[in-house]
Amino acid sequence: MPAIIPIPAFSDNYIWVVREGVAAAVVDPGDAEPVLAYLERERLALTAIVTTHHHGDHVGGNAALLARFPVPVFGPARETIPGRTHALAEGDVIKVPGVALELRVLDVPGHTAGHIAYVSREQDEPLAFVGDTLFAAGCGRLFEGTAAQMAASLAKLAALPGETRIYCAHEYTLANLQFALAVEPGNVALRERQLREQGKRDRDQPTVPSTVALERATNPFLRAGEPSVFAAAQAHAGRKLADATEAFAVVREWKNGFRPA
Ligand SMILES: [Zn+2]
Repeated sequence: MPAIIPIPAFSDNYIWVVREGVAAAVVDPGDAEPVLAYLERERLALTAIVTTHHHGDHVGGNAALLARFPVPVFGPARETIPGRTHALAEGDVIKVPGVALELRVLDVPGHTAGHIAYVSREQDEPLAFVGDTLFAAGCGRLFEGTAAQMAASLAKLAALPGETRIYCAHEYTLANLQFALAVEPGNVALRERQLREQGKRDRDQPTVPSTVALERATNPFLRAGEPSVFAAAQAHAGRKLADATEAFAVVREWKNGFRPA
């Protein structure tokens, strides 16, 4: 199993490096600079670029990395990805060049129309690269998709085995947890999580990866059908909501206008 290391980029992005021996693949390199510095420092050769969606803070480094390392670029079939050599959609399986990692593709539209996620086929230590779809205690904004699409995409990720490690692309966790607690002030697992994640940030550690089990227990966007979240969404909307998808849409809107204390 290769090691997976975060490279911080911009103000709050993580570029994930999958490394084994002298080989390294990168996931969503929004900026080439910190990736090239890391490869040089660690004496690694880039073997692949893996992309979840077309936003600049996920693909902005592709061209400069390719100029130095002409490697395969895996990305969503339905989006424009610089240098893409492998156009992927739900059900595709890739072997990441240079490292022992096989990934299965899920279509997860919502944040962008063609967003994909990658799920490992390892039974032992399952993992998923989810880009800007599922965040620790949060989810991506709906830039190109509908609430129903995003709710369905999140449900696919929530259905993965509980121990699946979730590698998302941003360090938004503490702000997300403030919102989650506004939705579910009585959720004990959520309060415990806030203390834990605050401790990590105080020590300058990343709060990710998370796990599917932890997200199911604490992420309001995966919990729209739970009585506590559903009731909070109805109270916020000031009307009866028909189903969990409608509650998800209300919670997503609520978060858009939420300012952490
Ligand atoms: Zn994005």
